[in-house]
Amino acid sequence: MDIKSIDKIVSLCKRRGFIFQSSEVYGGLASTWDYGHLGVELKRKLKNEWWQNIVTSRDNVVGMDAAILMHPKVWEASGHVENFNDPLVDNKDTKKRYRLDHLLEGQKPEVVESLTNAIFKDNPPEFASEEDHIVILTQHLNDLGETGGSLLKDSGVRDPHSGAVGNWTNPRQFNLMFQTHIGPTQDSSSIAYLRPETAQGIFVNFANVQITSRQKLPFGIAQMGKSFRNEITTGNFLFRTREFEQMELEFFVHLEDTKKWLEYWSNERLEWFKSLGITPEKLRLRAHGGDELAHYSSACYDVEYQFPFGWSELEGIADRGTFDLDQHNAHADKKQSYFDPQQNKHIVPAVVESSAGVDRAFLTVLVDAYREEEVNGEKRVLLKLAPKLAPITCAVFPLMNKGEQVEKAELLVKEVRREFSGFIDTGGSIGKRYRRQDEAGTPYGITVDHQTMEDDTVTIRDRDTMEQERISIDSILDQLRSRISAT
Ligand code: ATP
Repeated sequence: MDIKSIDKIVSLCKRRGFIFQSSEVYGGLASTWDYGHLGVELKRKLKNEWWQNIVTSRDNVVGMDAAILMHPKVWEASGHVENFNDPLVDNKDTKKRYRLDHLLEGQKPEVVESLTNAIFKDNPPEFASEEDHIVILTQHLNDLGETGGSLLKDSGVRDPHSGAVGNWTNPRQFNLMFQTHIGPTQDSSSIAYLRPETAQGIFVNFANVQITSRQKLPFGIAQMGKSFRNEITTGNFLFRTREFEQMELEFFVHLEDTKKWLEYWSNERLEWFKSLGITPEKLRLRAHGGDELAHYSSACYDVEYQFPFGWSELEGIADRGTFDLDQHNAHADKKQSYFDPQQNKHIVPAVVESSAGVDRAFLTVLVDAYREEEVNGEKRVLLKLAPKLAPITCAVFPLMNKGEQVEKAELLVKEVRREFSGFIDTGGSIGKRYRRQDEAGTPYGITVDHQTMEDDTVTIRDRDTMEQERISIDSILDQLRSRISAT
């Protein structure tokens, strides 16, 4: 799949009702998206898979659901007010604004080399990887202050918009939190933030949840919900947006056990993405280099997927030590700790975090499932979604679009809906109907024809092989169950 294929996915999403541009009738709001009737089902199934895997199937993880608006002191304690910044630069000629590290990632190797030489003269440090190299350059350019902009220009850093060398401003820090005000007065005392992550809702409720759930270390608290970041550069469809959903697990452990649990959760999370039917060769775990780590984190893995635009992060799994609870204990009146029966004293537990994006996982599933095939000289587009994620599990097609076949099909779809999601499609030729359902990712199609009226049999068609088999109407639910469990 080439880079242009993201456009094909955007267009399929619109055509079939997965995703629409937000506020489209007003010309759209950049980088914000609405989930349509098929999109909402796929997203819901994805989230259910996560909740089932992380919370329901385990006796040492419980869930919670915190408010999006929180006390502003939460974000001071967490470090977000001071540190949740991205470095940005503007091109004074084109008036385009970029996140500095993203701008550098897109430059030719010789430009990066020339910038490296300009910053480090004859003594460049060892770079562990390309990512590490960009992180270090970005940090140094930030620290340079007044001369950063001219250095970018002199090294030949080009504006991706115009293709020409940019007339760059000096890099400056931009806080990513959306601000709002609570109540009618709009002054500094009423400032509130839309949460930029769901995790803090868990940390400030650690003691509440631990005491009421009576969990003992090691145990986890999980949450999913909306987060907001005023990203400087958005793009690649759902990959980076300003409003998105996260699925986060904070797993509390004894400090000496963090390494073990970091390995455990990194592998668990990689396996979870594989369990969604995503091509295993396109998934990997990448350990962060020392310079990529946040100051509070001693080790971190990313689950990455090989998108048409390159390997990119789906999720971060991090050893955060006791940083978060320590910070809240230092700032809040009410202290949080855990009474450890083994040591017979109160301790502050350490935490291993797994933080994934729902919309990124959704995009990954779609990109991975997208296929174009040639069948009898015609192009067939299909989504090879895992049946457990497909918005519609089984579509029912009466050959005739009225009369007794439709009545029979209505009864059948009702039967399907007792356990699975079903849909009846009477519009257009049977070939057209198959193609629509292939694009929707519907794994099974049942056709009601004149033979059905005589012997109560129907054909069931497999989306991927397009093979059809004649089965008895009574066995439909059994058929769907056994076909789904075989995938
Ligand atoms: P990046 O470096 O890509 O900005 P990050 O390392 O800041 O991401 P985290 O803070 O670790 O991201 O967030 C955890 C997860 O939340 C990410 O792996 C991603 O799946 C999701 N996420 C973060 N920011 C966005 C966004 N702007 N749009 C969509 N999903 C996001």
